[in-house]
Amino acid sequence: MNEEYRCSLRGKLKKEFEFKGNKLTAVDIVTVGDNVEFDLNRDGSGVITHIEKRSNYISRKAPKIKGAGIRGERLEQIVAANFNNLVIVSSAASPKFNNKLIDRLIVAGESSHVDVTIVVNKIDLDESVHKSYVQLYRRIGYQVFETSVKKEIEIEELRYHLQGKINLFWGQSGVGKSSLLNLLFPGLKLKIGEISDYTSKGKHTTVTVLLKKVDANTIVIDTPGIREIDPYGITKHDLGHYFKDFSQYITKCKFNTCTHHHEPGCGVIKAVEEGGINVERYESYLKILDTIEEDLFF
Ligand code: GDP
Ligand code: ZN
Repeated sequence: MNEEYRCSLRGKLKKEFEFKGNKLTAVDIVTVGDNVEFDLNRDGSGVITHIEKRSNYISRKAPKIKGAGIRGERLEQIVAANFNNLVIVSSAASPKFNNKLIDRLIVAGESSHVDVTIVVNKIDLDESVHKSYVQLYRRIGYQVFETSVKKEIEIEELRYHLQGKINLFWGQSGVGKSSLLNLLFPGLKLKIGEISDYTSKGKHTTVTVLLKKVDANTIVIDTPGIREIDPYGITKHDLGHYFKDFSQYITKCKFNTCTHHHEPGCGVIKAVEEGGINVERYESYLKILDTIEEDLFF
């Protein structure tokens, strides 16, 4: 069914979801990608009566809400659901290539148990910085595309790769995500922001959540909610598992509670020293580890 219905949420559903044991536990009851049942009103609008169980979802820490959550921690905000491929769009330059950001998003993708695809766009501008990282990510096992919207490089290959998947796109402002989506799937007609030379930041354009079937079995989801992702529900102890390149070394850690930070007999630290693990990947790991609030999820 390809028709669109504007739906609101039945009040009862709202209440059941938001409050568990008198505590607000999550925000956003329904999210982009959800499969729902709804009753149709006479005026053509709908009322959502049921939300199907999500096969997976990506969430982030919501901004602090007063009085919510246990001990006032930040709540979980679900950004998108039921997708199977996270497409991380970055740029070779303007804004400059940022591997730390990519590593963060990889963690979000891995912890959501979806495939991760990395796109480095704007390769027409600069070829010098991103190349070694492209090799690194490929060695780890990620599919990487080096694209240029301007020169139409690797567009066909990327389009082919996205086929048959439910693709959630993420991109830092200005990397060319909208331009890329428009070129891949011209029917989308997304607005293109302009980069101001002064700040190198994408200017603000009106952003809305988008989910579109671009062909019989391919879906694209584009949501501004994912821009500032602060992964939710990852423990210090789990984080290492979302670095695929660490996995063969984690098993060598002396303690099975090892956070690969300072512990003696750590297999990961040893691998970093011996070159088995890339130092920058380890630095990304430490940086994210530092942002995880201790013991909250145990
Ligand atoms: P978004 O914020 O990621 O959606 O980025 P936009 O699609 O709005 O693009 C930001 C700017 O980058 C626009 O001025 C685009 O024309 C430009 N741009 C997009 N892709 C490319 C590319 O491959 N090469 C170059 N040189 N510029 C690009
Ligand atoms: Zn360790």
